[in-house]
Amino acid sequence: MALDPRKLQSTICEFCSGTGWEPVGEKGVRPCRCRTEDRRLQILAAANVPRRYENCMFESYKPKPAADEAGISQRIALHDSKYIVDQYPNVEVGLLFLGPCGVGKTHLATAIIRELALHKGISCLFYDFRDLLKEIQDSYNPVSQTTELKVLEPVYEAEVLVLDELGASKPTDWVRDTMTQIINTRYNDKRLTIITSNYLDEPQQPNEETLTDRVGVRLRSRLHEMCKVVLIKGDDYRLKLNQTRGRKL
Ligand code: ADP
Repeated sequence: MALDPRKLQSTICEFCSGTGWEPVGEKGVRPCRCRTEDRRLQILAAANVPRRYENCMFESYKPKPAADEAGISQRIALHDSKYIVDQYPNVEVGLLFLGPCGVGKTHLATAIIRELALHKGISCLFYDFRDLLKEIQDSYNPVSQTTELKVLEPVYEAEVLVLDELGASKPTDWVRDTMTQIINTRYNDKRLTIITSNYLDEPQQPNEETLTDRVGVRLRSRLHEMCKVVLIKGDDYRLKLNQTRGRKL
Protein backbone atom coordinates (compact mmCIF):
# COMPACT_ATOMS: atom_id res chain seq x y z
CA MET A 1 0.00 0.00 0.00
CA ALA A 2 1.33 3.44 -0.91
CA LEU A 3 2.35 5.65 1.99
CA ASP A 4 0.86 9.07 1.83
CA PRO A 5 2.19 11.46 4.50
CA ARG A 6 -0.83 13.73 3.99
CA LYS A 7 -3.13 10.88 4.95
CA LEU A 8 -1.27 10.46 8.23
CA GLN A 9 -2.06 14.01 9.17
CA SER A 10 -5.80 13.35 9.10
CA THR A 11 -7.02 13.48 12.69
CA ILE A 12 -8.79 10.17 13.23
CA CYS A 13 -7.64 6.96 11.64
CA GLU A 14 -10.39 5.19 9.75
CA PHE A 15 -8.98 1.76 10.71
CA CYS A 16 -8.48 2.13 14.49
CA SER A 17 -10.36 5.33 15.32
CA GLY A 18 -7.21 6.58 17.00
CA THR A 19 -6.80 3.64 19.42
CA GLY A 20 -3.71 2.26 17.68
CA TRP A 21 -5.39 -1.17 17.46
CA GLU A 22 -7.07 -2.33 14.31
CA PRO A 23 -9.83 -4.96 14.56
CA VAL A 24 -9.23 -8.28 12.77
CA GLY A 25 -11.94 -10.89 12.30
CA GLU A 26 -14.63 -11.23 14.96
CA LYS A 27 -12.73 -10.46 18.16
CA GLY A 28 -9.06 -9.99 17.33
CA VAL A 29 -6.96 -6.84 17.15
CA ARG A 30 -3.53 -6.03 15.77
CA PRO A 31 -1.32 -2.92 15.85
CA CYS A 32 -2.97 -0.55 13.42
CA ARG A 33 -1.48 0.06 9.99
CA CYS A 34 -1.44 3.82 10.71
CA ARG A 35 1.10 3.21 13.50
CA THR A 36 3.25 1.16 11.16
CA GLU A 37 3.16 3.87 8.50
CA ASP A 38 3.83 6.55 11.08
CA ARG A 39 6.78 4.56 12.37
CA ARG A 40 8.21 4.22 8.87
CA LEU A 41 7.96 7.93 8.26
CA GLN A 42 9.78 8.46 11.56
CA ILE A 43 12.48 6.03 10.44
CA LEU A 44 12.87 7.98 7.21
CA ALA A 45 13.02 11.30 9.09
CA ALA A 46 15.67 9.87 11.43
CA ALA A 47 17.83 8.86 8.46
CA ASN A 48 18.91 12.50 8.11
CA VAL A 49 18.63 12.70 4.34
CA PRO A 50 19.40 16.31 3.34
CA ARG A 51 16.32 18.24 2.21
CA ARG A 52 17.80 18.67 -1.25
CA TYR A 53 17.54 14.90 -1.71
CA GLU A 54 14.41 14.10 0.27
CA ASN A 55 12.30 13.60 -2.83
CA CYS A 56 14.84 11.54 -4.76
CA MET A 57 13.25 8.31 -5.92
CA PHE A 58 14.03 5.56 -8.37
CA GLU A 59 11.16 6.79 -10.56
CA SER A 60 12.68 10.26 -10.84
CA TYR A 61 16.14 8.97 -11.81
CA LYS A 62 16.28 9.12 -15.60
CA PRO A 63 19.22 7.27 -17.11
CA LYS A 64 20.57 8.84 -20.27
CA PRO A 65 18.55 7.19 -23.06
CA ALA A 66 21.51 6.70 -25.41
CA ALA A 67 23.08 3.23 -25.58
CA ASP A 68 26.54 4.74 -25.00
CA GLU A 69 28.82 4.05 -22.01
CA ALA A 70 27.12 6.72 -19.89
CA GLY A 71 23.58 5.54 -20.63
CA ILE A 72 24.45 1.90 -19.98
CA SER A 73 26.31 2.68 -16.73
CA GLN A 74 23.34 4.71 -15.46
CA ARG A 75 20.87 1.93 -16.24
CA ILE A 76 23.10 -0.58 -14.43
CA ALA A 77 23.37 1.78 -11.44
CA LEU A 78 19.58 2.09 -11.25
CA HIS A 79 19.18 -1.67 -11.57
CA ASP A 80 21.76 -2.38 -8.82
CA SER A 81 20.08 0.13 -6.51
CA LYS A 82 16.65 -1.44 -6.97
CA TYR A 83 18.12 -4.90 -6.60
CA ILE A 84 19.67 -4.16 -3.22
CA VAL A 85 16.32 -2.85 -1.94
CA ASP A 86 14.43 -5.88 -3.30
CA GLN A 87 16.90 -8.34 -1.84
CA TYR A 88 17.53 -6.67 1.53
CA PRO A 89 18.24 -8.16 4.10
CA ASN A 90 19.55 -11.03 1.98
CA VAL A 91 22.47 -9.06 0.62
CA GLU A 92 26.10 -9.68 1.41
CA VAL A 93 27.68 -6.53 0.01
CA GLY A 94 26.81 -2.84 -0.22
CA LEU A 95 27.39 -0.49 -3.14
CA LEU A 96 30.26 1.86 -3.86
CA PHE A 97 29.03 4.45 -6.37
CA LEU A 98 31.98 6.01 -8.15
CA GLY A 99 31.79 8.69 -10.81
CA PRO A 100 32.14 12.35 -11.60
CA CYS A 101 30.08 15.08 -10.02
CA GLY A 102 26.38 15.28 -10.85
CA VAL A 103 25.76 11.81 -12.32
CA GLY A 104 23.23 10.91 -9.63
CA LYS A 105 25.27 8.95 -7.09
CA THR A 106 23.69 10.69 -4.10
CA HIS A 107 20.28 10.63 -5.77
CA LEU A 108 20.40 6.83 -5.99
CA ALA A 109 21.90 6.36 -2.52
CA THR A 110 19.16 8.47 -0.93
CA ALA A 111 16.48 6.75 -3.02
CA ILE A 112 17.70 3.45 -1.53
CA ILE A 113 17.29 4.88 1.99
CA ARG A 114 13.82 6.12 1.16
CA GLU A 115 12.69 2.75 -0.21
CA LEU A 116 14.22 0.73 2.62
CA ALA A 117 12.76 2.98 5.31
CA LEU A 118 9.28 3.35 3.85
CA HIS A 119 8.74 -0.10 2.43
CA LYS A 120 10.79 -2.30 4.72
CA GLY A 121 11.01 -0.25 7.92
CA ILE A 122 14.82 -0.46 7.93
CA SER A 123 16.75 2.05 10.03
CA CYS A 124 19.13 3.95 7.77
CA LEU A 125 21.52 6.83 8.31
CA PHE A 126 22.87 9.35 5.81
CA TYR A 127 26.16 11.10 6.50
CA ASP A 128 28.18 13.43 4.37
CA PHE A 129 31.76 12.27 4.83
CA ARG A 130 32.99 15.79 5.68
CA ASP A 131 30.28 16.30 8.28
CA LEU A 132 31.08 12.98 9.89
CA LEU A 133 34.78 13.81 10.04
CA LYS A 134 33.97 17.17 11.58
CA GLU A 135 31.73 15.62 14.21
CA ILE A 136 34.35 13.01 15.01
CA GLN A 137 37.04 15.67 15.27
CA ASP A 138 34.88 18.03 17.34
CA SER A 139 33.97 15.34 19.82
CA TYR A 140 37.49 13.93 20.13
CA ASN A 141 38.87 14.11 23.61
CA PRO A 142 42.68 14.35 23.46
CA VAL A 143 43.02 13.38 27.12
CA SER A 144 41.12 10.13 26.93
CA GLN A 145 41.97 9.83 23.19
CA THR A 146 38.41 8.81 22.43
CA THR A 147 35.57 10.08 20.31
CA GLU A 148 32.21 10.52 21.97
CA LEU A 149 30.03 7.48 21.60
CA LYS A 150 26.99 9.60 20.79
CA VAL A 151 28.60 10.40 17.42
CA LEU A 152 29.87 6.93 16.66
CA GLU A 153 27.09 4.74 18.01
CA PRO A 154 24.44 5.58 15.38
CA VAL A 155 27.06 5.20 12.65
CA TYR A 156 28.02 1.76 13.94
CA GLU A 157 24.46 0.69 14.53
CA ALA A 158 22.40 1.92 11.59
CA GLU A 159 21.25 -1.10 9.66
CA VAL A 160 22.17 0.73 6.47
CA LEU A 161 24.67 3.59 6.39
CA VAL A 162 25.12 5.90 3.42
CA LEU A 163 28.45 7.67 3.48
CA ASP A 164 28.34 10.40 0.86
CA GLU A 165 31.37 11.90 -0.86
CA LEU A 166 33.98 9.63 0.67
CA GLY A 167 37.42 11.18 0.31
CA ALA A 168 36.05 14.70 -0.24
CA SER A 169 38.41 15.98 2.42
CA LYS A 170 41.76 14.43 3.09
CA PRO A 171 41.81 13.13 6.62
CA THR A 172 44.68 13.11 9.05
CA ASP A 173 46.08 9.73 10.07
CA TRP A 174 43.96 9.34 13.19
CA VAL A 175 40.74 10.32 11.41
CA ARG A 176 41.63 7.85 8.68
CA ASP A 177 42.09 5.19 11.38
CA THR A 178 38.74 6.09 12.90
CA MET A 179 37.11 5.85 9.48
CA THR A 180 38.70 2.46 8.88
CA GLN A 181 37.53 1.34 12.31
CA ILE A 182 33.95 2.40 11.57
CA ILE A 183 33.91 0.61 8.22
CA ASN A 184 35.58 -2.48 9.71
CA THR A 185 33.13 -2.65 12.59
CA ARG A 186 30.19 -2.43 10.21
CA TYR A 187 31.77 -5.09 8.04
CA ASN A 188 32.29 -7.43 10.99
CA ASP A 189 28.72 -6.83 12.16
CA LYS A 190 27.49 -7.57 8.62
CA ARG A 191 25.81 -4.20 8.32
CA LEU A 192 25.27 -2.75 4.89
CA THR A 193 27.22 0.34 3.87
CA ILE A 194 26.59 2.37 0.74
CA ILE A 195 29.23 4.83 -0.30
CA THR A 196 29.56 7.50 -2.95
CA SER A 197 32.77 9.12 -4.13
CA ASN A 198 33.95 11.39 -6.93
CA TYR A 199 37.35 9.73 -6.76
CA LEU A 200 37.91 6.75 -9.03
CA ASP A 201 40.22 3.77 -8.79
CA GLU A 202 42.05 4.70 -11.98
CA PRO A 203 43.19 8.28 -12.57
CA GLN A 204 41.47 9.79 -15.63
CA GLN A 205 44.07 12.55 -16.02
CA PRO A 206 47.77 12.51 -15.23
CA ASN A 207 48.37 13.41 -11.56
CA GLU A 208 44.69 12.97 -10.69
CA GLU A 209 44.21 11.57 -7.19
CA THR A 210 42.55 8.17 -6.82
CA LEU A 211 40.25 6.95 -4.06
CA THR A 212 43.18 5.07 -2.55
CA ASP A 213 45.18 8.33 -2.44
CA ARG A 214 42.33 9.90 -0.53
CA VAL A 215 41.39 7.17 1.93
CA GLY A 216 44.44 4.93 2.15
CA VAL A 217 45.17 1.39 0.97
CA ARG A 218 43.69 -0.35 3.99
CA LEU A 219 40.28 1.27 3.74
CA ARG A 220 40.10 0.98 -0.05
CA SER A 221 40.90 -2.71 0.14
CA ARG A 222 38.24 -3.30 2.82
CA LEU A 223 35.70 -1.46 0.66
CA HIS A 224 36.49 -3.84 -2.20
CA GLU A 225 35.43 -6.73 0.01
CA MET A 226 32.27 -5.18 1.34
CA CYS A 227 30.87 -3.23 -1.62
CA LYS A 228 30.13 -3.80 -5.26
CA VAL A 229 31.68 -1.03 -7.34
CA VAL A 230 29.07 0.78 -9.44
CA LEU A 231 30.82 3.09 -11.86
CA ILE A 232 28.51 5.81 -13.20
CA LYS A 233 29.59 7.76 -16.25
CA GLY A 234 28.08 10.85 -17.81
CA ASP A 235 27.82 14.59 -17.67
CA ASP A 236 26.75 16.68 -14.71
CA TYR A 237 22.94 16.47 -14.65
CA ARG A 238 22.71 19.87 -12.98
CA LEU A 239 24.30 21.50 -16.02
CA LYS A 240 21.81 19.72 -18.23
CA LEU A 241 18.94 21.00 -16.06
CA ASN A 242 20.32 24.54 -16.19
CA GLN A 243 20.65 24.40 -19.97
CA THR A 244 17.05 23.17 -20.30
CA ARG A 245 15.83 25.93 -17.97
CA GLY A 246 17.92 28.48 -19.91
CA ARG A 247 16.25 27.44 -23.15
CA LYS A 248 12.80 27.88 -21.60
CA LEU A 249 13.54 31.42 -20.34
P1 ADP B 1 26.44 13.17 -7.56
O1 ADP B 1 26.15 12.62 -6.19
O2 ADP B 1 26.84 12.11 -8.56
O3 ADP B 1 27.41 14.32 -7.54
P2 ADP B 1 23.70 14.06 -7.42
O4 ADP B 1 23.01 12.80 -7.05
O5 ADP B 1 23.93 15.04 -6.32
O6 ADP B 1 25.08 13.76 -8.16
O7 ADP B 1 22.88 14.73 -8.60
C1 ADP B 1 22.83 16.14 -8.79
C2 ADP B 1 21.40 16.55 -9.10
O8 ADP B 1 21.02 16.01 -10.35
C3 ADP B 1 20.42 16.01 -8.08
O9 ADP B 1 19.40 16.96 -7.93
C4 ADP B 1 19.86 14.75 -8.74
O10 ADP B 1 18.52 14.50 -8.33
C5 ADP B 1 19.92 15.11 -10.22
N1 ADP B 1 20.22 13.96 -11.10
C6 ADP B 1 21.43 13.43 -11.36
N2 ADP B 1 21.34 12.45 -12.27
C7 ADP B 1 20.03 12.33 -12.57
C8 ADP B 1 19.27 11.48 -13.44
N3 ADP B 1 19.86 10.57 -14.21
N4 ADP B 1 17.93 11.64 -13.47
C9 ADP B 1 17.31 12.58 -12.71
N5 ADP B 1 17.97 13.41 -11.87
C10 ADP B 1 19.31 13.31 -11.80
